[in-house]
This record gives sequence, structure tokens and C-alpha cells, in this order.
Amino acid sequence: MAEFDYDLFVIGAGSGGVRASRIAASHGARVAIAEEHRVGGTCVIRGCVPKKLLVYGAHFAEDIQDAQRFGWDTKGASFDWNILRDNVAAEVNRLEGLYGQTLGNNKVEVFHERAVITGPNSVRLSGGREITATTILIATGAWPSVPVIPGAGHGITSNEVFSLPKLPKRAVIAGGGYIANEFAGIFNELGVKVNLVTHGDRVLRSYDDEIVDRLVDISRHKGIDIRFNFAFKSITKRDDGTLLLEGNDGKTIETDLLLWAIGRTPHSTGLNLEQIGVELGKDGSVKVGDDSRTNIPSIYAVGDVTNRVQLTPIAIREGHAFADSVFGNKPRTVNYDYIPTAVFSNPPIASVGMTEAEARAEYDDVKVYKSDFRAMKNVLADRNERALYKMVVAGSEERVIGLHLIGPDSGEILQAAAIAVKAGLTKQDFDDTVALHPSMSEELVLMK
Ligand code: NDP
Repeated sequence: MAEFDYDLFVIGAGSGGVRASRIAASHGARVAIAEEHRVGGTCVIRGCVPKKLLVYGAHFAEDIQDAQRFGWDTKGASFDWNILRDNVAAEVNRLEGLYGQTLGNNKVEVFHERAVITGPNSVRLSGGREITATTILIATGAWPSVPVIPGAGHGITSNEVFSLPKLPKRAVIAGGGYIANEFAGIFNELGVKVNLVTHGDRVLRSYDDEIVDRLVDISRHKGIDIRFNFAFKSITKRDDGTLLLEGNDGKTIETDLLLWAIGRTPHSTGLNLEQIGVELGKDGSVKVGDDSRTNIPSIYAVGDVTNRVQLTPIAIREGHAFADSVFGNKPRTVNYDYIPTAVFSNPPIASVGMTEAEARAEYDDVKVYKSDFRAMKNVLADRNERALYKMVVAGSEERVIGLHLIGPDSGEILQAAAIAVKAGLTKQDFDDTVALHPSMSEELVLMK
């Protein structure tokens, strides 16, 4: 091994890259990592973390309104975007520092430069230095997609949305996935007139239809304008700074801000991968096997750049499994079954396992149990917003193969329930558990 400068060279200090570096180093490997932006990657710097803080910040709008029904005088309450934005940025800076410290504590050498791969065991940093390593790990993540249409550059992406100088009066959010629905909720609560525009006939396609329909209904009721089947033709910026969005059908929408949230493309360009023969998928993803190894034996890839499942906890697991397997003599792979997910929309959605439609396509004997209820807090607040929980079961033993929730705190509730689903428990096991009363989560054991 000593013939190379390092045992492991990681490109990209996001969730997957940092975990892989730290674990490989703890197994005794000599590790270096290159990061051209900021240590922490998408999740910490311009994704999950700042987004969740904005979700909390925005939700005070409704909480303050509801508080009056609980006896609080909230007259004079006001909101300052600059304070929220700057406090979120400060928290992101703090976390970036912690990530850097973790790498330092584990003796991982950090190069704040872009790296390109020059061969199976070599990389070149943007400063010109050539480095060799026994193993190279590509952990460069994904990048927001922007369509190739005239004027697309007048829109922003989730990379820029956290540092807006001021909130717009009106925003069009293009897309109907995670980011679109989360930012529709955030902006709407902060007083922005939101128009969510997607090209298909559904939003959140991977989620259960009934749960998504409930979100669409509630979102519309809250004032979010949702438009389906709109194909963008061009974007024009007018002299007064407003944007004119034109659809293929000739219809136009005027707005102050356009946010592209139409998916994220694996960030594999400019790494010299084609030249050295690393196989890529049509979507630009780095092709890997179960062990995260590419077709070149010394080069591996984890996280969004492989486009297996674009989620932080998955990138972390892939990075960890890679490091344990290659440097810790503990070969293992990641289990992708029953991954719990949440959309931090308003209200949030959380889900694990098969949707009703997926289950019916796969099994003959599917049954669905439901609970459609108004959270106690919403009743007193006189907020006419109903939660919906769905349990999908299969077989005569009624094994739970899907659980789908929309309602307050559904992400928090689902994580615990996902353990039961992953463990293969049945509807009867849920029913045998005494309800924790009064709570929303008790509905999980009371479904009819
Ligand atoms: P998603 O893949 O979630 O959704 C993309 C959406 O954009 C779909 O609704 C798609 O519609 C629509 N779309 C695609 N092309 C166009 C177009 N040209 N015009 C209008 N609409 C279009 O992408 P996101 O960008 O929201 O998120 C990227 C990934 O990041 C997610 O897949 C997720 O894995 C991750 N993420 C996870 C979060 C979480 O866990 N809470 C939060 C944020 C991101 P259709 O389906 O009809 O093609």
C-alpha cells in the first residue's frame, strides 16, 4: 500500500464522503478528501438542515394564529426574513465547522479544491498537485436540474433559495416533488403568493395517491395555487425585474421569483470519468454494484452520484458499508428495503413500504386500514385540517407492508412505526399495542 500517497482518496465532503472518510480512517487507513464547495455537502449546507429550520420558522405563522384560540394575545407579532435567513446561515456555518473538526479529529486530510480523476489510482487537484491512492471514492452528490429552455437561467434553484436578499411577493415553484412541496409550504406560510407548477398530472408520484390528494387539497385550501400539465416554453425577464413564464400551450404566468425544483442530476460531469473508462448510466449516474464498486476495481462511488436512492441517510449507510468492507475487513452491503421517507410539506407526509397501488399490483390479498381524523390541537384551534393514516397489509396474516401518513409531526411518528414495519409485524401486532392517549400516533394502533 505504501507505494501510494494515501490508502483512500475521497472526492466530495458531503454526507457519504465524510462518513466513508471517518470510518476508513478509524480502521487505520490514510485518508484524504477533496471538496470544492463547503464541507458538509448538500444536506448540511443547502438541503435538509437549512430547509428544516425554514420549515420550523415558517410554521410559527400558523402557530401564532392558532395561539389566539389557546388564550394568547399575539397582536403585533411580525416576521423578519433577514433574521431567519441569517440565523439559519449561522447554524449551517456552525455545522460546517463541526464536520471539518470530525475530519481533523480522525486525521483525514482535507483539500479545499476540486479534484479530477486521472487514472485508476490518481487524482489531480485544481491547484495542479497530483495525488495517488490505492482506492478512490466518488461522493460528489447531485446537482439541481434546470431545463434547457430560453431564459431558464432567470430562475433559481435550491442552491440559492436559502440566501434570498428578500422574500418575493409571488413565487412560481416548478416541479411537484420533495423540494417543490416543501418550499411551497415554507413560502406560503411566510406570506408569499405561491404557484406550484408541474409538467405531469400528479405531484409526489412515489407517494400514496390518497395521501397526496389530501396534501393537494390542504395546500390549495391554504392558498397555494397548484397547476398540473404545464410545459415551460420560455422565461422572459422584464425591465421591472418580474418574470414572464410562457407555457407550450401559450398560457403565461407572471411572477417575481422562479424556483426550479424538477429533480437533481448526479454530479458526475467534469471528473474525467468517461476518459478513464468509468461506466455511467444514461442519467449520468456512476454505475456501481452492491458493494459500491465501479467497473474499475480501485474506484468506488456512494450517495446521490450513483442515483440509487437520493437520500442522506442512504448516502451515509453506503459510505459506512464501503469503509467497513474495504478497510475494516467487515464486508457488508446496504439493505434498501423499507426506507422511511418524509416530505416536510405543510402538513408533512411520511411513508414506508408499498403504496396501496403498488401493493395491489404485486399481491392478490391486499387490505387497507385507515384513520381519517382531526388532530386535537387543530380542533381547539378551529383549523379544519384532517390527518390521514393508511396501513396497507397483505396475506392472511395481514403483514404490514406499507404505512402512509399525512398530518402534524408525521415524520416524527413514522420513524418509530417504521421499525415495526421493517421487522415484519402484522396488523394484529399493532392492535395488540395499547394506545398512548391522547396522541396522534395512537391512531396507528386503532385503524379500522
Ligand atoms: P423530485 O425528484 O422529488 O421531483 C421532481 C418533480 O419535478 C416531479 O414532480 C416531476 O414530475 C417534476 N418535473 C420534472 N421535470 C419537470 C419540468 N421540466 N417541469 C415541471 N416539472 C417537472 O425532485 P426534487 O428536486 O424535489 O428533489 C430531488 C431529490 O432530493 C428527491 O428525489 C429526494 O430524493 C431528495 N430530497 C429529499 C427530501 C426529503 O427527504 N425530505 C427533501 C428534498 C429533496 P413527474 O414526476 O411528473 O415527472
